Amino acid sequence: MTIPFVSQGPFLLIVAGVFGLTVGSFLNVLVHRLPRGESVVSPPSHCPSCGAPVRPIDNVPVLSWLLLRGRCRVCRAPISLRYPSLELANGVLWVFVALRARDWAELFGGAFLCSACLALLAIDAEFQILPDRITLPGLVIGLVLSFFSTTRSPVSALAGAAVGAGGLYLVAFAYERIAGHEGMGLGDVKMLGMIGSFLGPSGVLVTVLLSSVAGSVVGLVLIALAKGDRRTRLPFGVFLSLGAVSAFFFGDALMGKYRSLWNP
Ligand SMILES: [Zn+2]
Repeated sequence: MTIPFVSQGPFLLIVAGVFGLTVGSFLNVLVHRLPRGESVVSPPSHCPSCGAPVRPIDNVPVLSWLLLRGRCRVCRAPISLRYPSLELANGVLWVFVALRARDWAELFGGAFLCSACLALLAIDAEFQILPDRITLPGLVIGLVLSFFSTTRSPVSALAGAAVGAGGLYLVAFAYERIAGHEGMGLGDVKMLGMIGSFLGPSGVLVTVLLSSVAGSVVGLVLIALAKGDRRTRLPFGVFLSLGAVSAFFFGDALMGKYRSLWNP
């Protein structure tokens, strides 16, 4: 039995928004606990400053943070702006995914990819790591979903993963040989493999292009402001996240424009 896919209906958009906000809340748990090696399911959420358990009423995405004015109810310690930001960003992205998706596989795949990228962005920015516990299951999910897709084939998912991971591995290897120090880690390689399993080879190329341009601009600005030099290591996962989400939404349009330049 196949369930017909009705995109862009108001019901689907509301469900996407509400679930997106809730999953955004869970992403904050991942960002806090994965790099610290803690379990992501237990114990229940508690204030990192005073240890007080977070009551359900204080755990409503975005709203609770606003009502508590960004402070713990018990000890008044400030709660990072990251919490409502991630929740809101995930909710908004899921609504746009529901608007963009052409079938169930793209709906679930796009939602997963956006959430994984948000979590990786926040973790890489703070801890400069990209946990395998997100990238490797993500790669498998991207491959599995391609079997249910009406818009992309398993071959394209596999090729995307290979081009992403293999291509970046070569770039990282060459960079290390030429520059004499490590520019990217294996975490970046696995992350681009995951992105490729969702976006295919052309989506990976768009991702690499966009994130390299964004990374270079930020790097040059930092050097100009004398806040870094050529050896400063930028968390490349942050730029890969932004690039992959942009490629999911605009990759096809960009590739179409690019092709029409050559075949007017
Ligand atoms: Zn507290």
